[in-house]
Amino acid sequence: MQRKSEKRTPSDDHAPSEKLPDMGRTAFSVWCKLMGIRVFSGLLLVFCLCASTGVARPQQENKDRRPEVVVLGIAQDGGVPQPGTSEHQGWTNDSMSRNVACLGLLDPESGARWLIEATPDFPEQLQHLDRLLPTESAPGLQGIFLTHAHIGHYTGLMYLGHEVMGARGVPVFVLPRMYEFLSQSGPWDQLVRLENIVLNRMTADKTITLNERVRVTPFLVPHRQEYTEVAGFRIEGPEKSVLFIPDIDSWEEWDSLGTRIDDLLAGVDRAYLDATFFANGEIPNRDMSGFPHPFITHSMERFSNLPAAEKRKVRFIHLNHTNPALWPDSDARLRILQNGFNVAEEGERFKL
Ligand SMILES: [Zn+2]
Ligand SMILES: [Zn+2]
Repeated sequence: MQRKSEKRTPSDDHAPSEKLPDMGRTAFSVWCKLMGIRVFSGLLLVFCLCASTGVARPQQENKDRRPEVVVLGIAQDGGVPQPGTSEHQGWTNDSMSRNVACLGLLDPESGARWLIEATPDFPEQLQHLDRLLPTESAPGLQGIFLTHAHIGHYTGLMYLGHEVMGARGVPVFVLPRMYEFLSQSGPWDQLVRLENIVLNRMTADKTITLNERVRVTPFLVPHRQEYTEVAGFRIEGPEKSVLFIPDIDSWEEWDSLGTRIDDLLAGVDRAYLDATFFANGEIPNRDMSGFPHPFITHSMERFSNLPAAEKRKVRFIHLNHTNPALWPDSDARLRILQNGFNVAEEGERFKL
């Protein structure tokens, strides 16, 4: 159709005035109508070409370039499936496997990329970032923020070392005990010594301004502290903010220390919260009542009196491989949705 119109257009160049004297009024009006159609076809063609050949690029550049958070994994430290579960469908079916909990932070305006956590699934998660916001350098990270020294949260740093990427000076943001841990114990101290990573000491509750659009604030979270303290993060963009608390022993313990999760929730637009286990009884033959994580059932109870808009902010994350809420068609997931909450999904993006 377009080509047909294109072939006709040269005749549109004919100057009408010299031929008009021989034409009657009717012929002239017919000619005008034809011209109208041809001019319209021509305009349509130009429009179509613009749309298909990239002339419309300014429009694309105008699209939303706010910073964003992307979920790169939702599983507990061991991932899904975990070693030793040979019957798990995730070994043969990708839709049944999940990467370890991790967020990416992207700033399309500057091309900057940060990771929140360096998990054992770092290779795939970095690849995911490369697809969303490609860079010319590797790993192309302006920084990595770490919550604590349990294996799912920091061991991905190993890929930056000289056995793999041999990265140069990747900034790693950590609280003081994590700083000591990484700089004084092998093999991590080698990353520091060879300057694959450069440790940046954070102070709890002190905001780090990454650029004019993005800020990150670490805060202390009560959670088993074998090697280091444990951080949560508040990530802020120009318009929206996100809370990330993948591991906490209990909301009530935090209450007693003077921090109410309900208040933190009120101050953000989205919250990725510890959802390691769905409910007691999830692991057969184990009394899980002493497990140091709030069950999802308990969190839902705790937040049950909040307005619907507050509940909608909650996206459960850091799910253990036994957690039935991992699976979209499970009763557990249905219960979460019916109560007004949700579960984070790998690949979901949130503009800040
Ligand atoms: Zn964890
Ligand atoms: Zn932990």
